[in-house]
Amino acid sequence: MNYTTQMDAARKGILTKELMAVAGQEQWEPDKLRELVAEGKAAIPANKNHTCLKPSGIGSMLKTKINVNLGTSRDLNDLDMELKKVKDAVLMGAESIMDLSSFGDTRRFRRKLTGECPAMIGTVPIYDAVVYYHKPLREITAEEWIRIVEMHAEDGVDFMTIHVGINKQTARRFKEAKRLTNIVSRGGSIIFAWMEMTGEENPFYEHYDRILEICQKHDVTLSLGDACRPGCIEDASDISQIEELVTLGELTKRAWEKNVQVIIEGPGHMPLDQIAANMKIQQTICKGAPFYVLGPLVTDIAPGYDHITAAIGGAVAAAAGAAFLCYVTPAEHLKLPDGADVKEGIVAARIAAHAADIAKGIRGAREWDHKMSDARKRLDWEAMFQLSIDPEKARRYRAASKPEKEDTCSMCGNFCAMKNMNRILDGEIVNIYDE
Ligand code: SF4
Repeated sequence: MNYTTQMDAARKGILTKELMAVAGQEQWEPDKLRELVAEGKAAIPANKNHTCLKPSGIGSMLKTKINVNLGTSRDLNDLDMELKKVKDAVLMGAESIMDLSSFGDTRRFRRKLTGECPAMIGTVPIYDAVVYYHKPLREITAEEWIRIVEMHAEDGVDFMTIHVGINKQTARRFKEAKRLTNIVSRGGSIIFAWMEMTGEENPFYEHYDRILEICQKHDVTLSLGDACRPGCIEDASDISQIEELVTLGELTKRAWEKNVQVIIEGPGHMPLDQIAANMKIQQTICKGAPFYVLGPLVTDIAPGYDHITAAIGGAVAAAAGAAFLCYVTPAEHLKLPDGADVKEGIVAARIAAHAADIAKGIRGAREWDHKMSDARKRLDWEAMFQLSIDPEKARRYRAASKPEKEDTCSMCGNFCAMKNMNRILDGEIVNIYDE
């Protein structure tokens, strides 16, 4: 192999098999896609050790991808249950799984994922360090933080969230500026606490070049984490968020100089009217690097329904340039999601992504809707089920309320506009009343 990373290959004019696969899925001319990867505007996270990967491309001009967060916690440590959720998530259309395990044998689970799962696998090594070293946070050394990153890269992880943007300067600004909900990023709060207790610089920032070497060696895409993502709409677009984004822009440039692919993580909670502007600012500061948004949740008041608040924000964000949506489940802010929560979160995120793809004119997006509407007009229920984003639910709902006339549904029955229009345009008599 005469290249290190997908970006290196693209810059050398090499069309890798991963790039060819993505070009085929996205209906893109391979050489045009190669140019985008070379410039960093599209990323193909594909660790060399993740041999069962079905590669995906992430970029604002490509189909919007969705990520599903899973993994064990101290309160729920059932590996088989998490693996079942992973398999179901992939079947439901998730292109990416982030393993956020924070308890138990995390390496075994991670290796199982990269050994069996065709979706992109992402991790947050910070969480794992706390579990792996079995010692108080302040006693973890800078070397140990870096070693965990290396371990995840060796295990075949395609992309990693590294909270590298919160350095001493960002942390000082954050403390001066004050926020309603402080730092809500789990990884961000861990590294901030470590910096406060040790007085040392963020080890990922200080040793960023070593991180880049690891990423280059295994072809890991860096997901530059936003420790200061707003955790409530009041903190949105504040000085801490923007200061960190500027740092992420500088770190993006350094990664690209080493041919390391980058995606940028973004908000968080954010009022609807700020989302599009945030996407534009990110694209300017980070030179078009793909944006990976966590929501954004457009209001703080809907626990139990945050898959909806996130889908609203996600659709607006992706239509304005975000490339990758992290799903949010109804369990957000409340508990670890179960299988049903995961399903609802995935469906909501996929709807948001697809709605944005229609608005952005992504190749092939509108055709799906065209086929569905054609099936509706023809009252072809089986075709409608198969085209549904959630065929099982569509089938179940129709079966739950059988219409008197098989070709209509129980909503309008004889008044079915679709049916009556088809008939009248075919020259038939339409009585409605006595039919
Ligand atoms: S009965 Fe009404 S809702 Fe049902 S298919 Fe016909 S027009 Fe649509």
